[in-house]
Amino acid sequence: MEQKLTFKEFSEALKKNKLLGLKCKDCGTITTPPKMVCRKCTSLNMEIVELTGNGKIQTFTTAYVASEGRKDEVPYTIVLVELDEGPWIMGNLTDIDPSQVGMELIGKRVKMGHKIFPGDKYSAGDGARPLFSFES
Ligand SMILES: [Zn+2]
Repeated sequence: MEQKLTFKEFSEALKKNKLLGLKCKDCGTITTPPKMVCRKCTSLNMEIVELTGNGKIQTFTTAYVASEGRKDEVPYTIVLVELDEGPWIMGNLTDIDPSQVGMELIGKRVKMGHKIFPGDKYSAGDGARPLFSFES
């Protein structure tokens, strides 16, 4: 069975600052990062759509321990964002001091930024992660 939108295609698009998802033609639910089937009704009948990358922070975590070769990047804050289109996606948060963040982050509006946090050796291939910044 062929996947409509592969993780590689998703990552390649991210590097061009495009957030892709899959829209279910049966129930209208948007799934991202891409999966084989609709996350709601498990339909295979999906089409590729481009998402805005805008949403609000649902939860976050700050990492103080770097993976190998990335010591310069810690600490950094990872957020779980509920996109306006519905799906939740993980990304890095920029424009903040990770040691200063607190619960006030929850519910803040963010948008996907222009920079991409590169994948590390534990990610799938050269995967990219979205980088979010506060909506102005
Ligand atoms: Zn569906």
